[in-house]
Amino acid sequence: MTTVLDRPTFGAAANLTCRECGATYDLGPGNACEQCFGPLEIGYDDTLLASVTRASIDAGPRTMWRYGGLLPVAPVVDLQVGCTRLIKADNLARELGMKTLWVKDDSGNPTHSFKDRVVAVAASAARTLGFSVLSCASTGNLANAVAAAAARAGMRSVVFIPSDLEAGKVVTTAVYGGTLVAIDGNYDDVNRLCAEVSGEQEDWAFVNVNVRPFYAEGSKTIGYEIAEQLGWRLPSQVVVPIASGALLTKVDKAWREFSTLGLVDASPYRVFGAQATGCSPVSAAFKAGHDVVQPVRPSTIAKSLAIGNPADGIYALDVVRRTGGAIADVSDDEVVEGIRLLARTEGIFAETAGGVTVATLRALLDAGQLDPAAETVILNTGDGLKTLDAVAPVAKPTATIAPSLAAFRAAGVA
Ligand SMILES: *Cc1c(COP(=O)(O)O)cnc(C)c1O
Ligand SMILES: [Zn+2]
Repeated sequence: MTTVLDRPTFGAAANLTCRECGATYDLGPGNACEQCFGPLEIGYDDTLLASVTRASIDAGPRTMWRYGGLLPVAPVVDLQVGCTRLIKADNLARELGMKTLWVKDDSGNPTHSFKDRVVAVAASAARTLGFSVLSCASTGNLANAVAAAAARAGMRSVVFIPSDLEAGKVVTTAVYGGTLVAIDGNYDDVNRLCAEVSGEQEDWAFVNVNVRPFYAEGSKTIGYEIAEQLGWRLPSQVVVPIASGALLTKVDKAWREFSTLGLVDASPYRVFGAQATGCSPVSAAFKAGHDVVQPVRPSTIAKSLAIGNPADGIYALDVVRRTGGAIADVSDDEVVEGIRLLARTEGIFAETAGGVTVATLRALLDAGQLDPAAETVILNTGDGLKTLDAVAPVAKPTATIAPSLAAFRAAGVA
């Protein structure tokens, strides 16, 4: 479909640019270059970007749209996403022998994961481009975010998920009243089907397929927020969970933009990636020194990260290598330990992806790859209430007793 629109609708965005060959296209639906099939990304008008200042951001709303001048669309669909807490994690830092550690806690978003950020931009782009149906292939959190945003925007939603998803992600999608299709297959099967369906249903906006260039830009806002919350400066190290790899590349893009625009001093930083061993294609490529990512068949409790064929895997590798970071992976047992460690030390209940990140932080420290003395931020991207099964076997009442003082005394909990 073609939609002709005024430029201002797209903010500072200028075009769609191929990441491989640099070919440019008019802003609109589409995610692959017609010349070389490379992925398309939003290109910006540098002069328009340069009008963004700390003061203009400060004058904006207390949501991710305060960075609207750096995003490719105006906020048509708004669930008041973003501006989540950045917590100084002194207890966890002490336990790990680190000096300064922060947790950026994106479980505080409307549907309790960072996916609300990407969907805010994708849904606004979909509306702006004239789509009436919002759709996606999801590992869980995206399903929640798409169904909620569509409900709020008065759009129909059609969400595709693997049928073995956690109940905490199925119920929390279905409740918004859209169409929810469970596929007997893994995420990569779901994603492949969606690519085929999107060829047939041209009037459906698949947030991570035909409007993916817009979608991915939403992840930049977590990077912007960290810099602003640190007092307009960048940390030295960041640990980011990897599914498709888009989030990791966009944190880097955000910090490069802030540096170029003079919103922060251009200080060096190292980007680290975190995966679960049961789905660690990007970590495997990093360790082997490869530029290509060999697809895998996922098997891990960290289902939100279980993408066996990550679209942005090679770009995540680029960012990590360019900044001098590393990528590591951890077992499912370590993921559970990571969830418990963060909960026990900081009172933050993360989903399995957060457990992956905390456990990977520890693994990187143990391997001497991450500097314990350098200021570090880790991303908690989702809420533990959605993945209760991961910790249910080890998170139980200390004692179950009769309602009597005698029983209390006998229980030995005083
Ligand atoms: C989707 C997701 C990620 C990673 O996203 P990508 O951009 O695909 O790498 C991380 N954490 C959670 C909880 C997610 O749902
Ligand atoms: Zn190209």
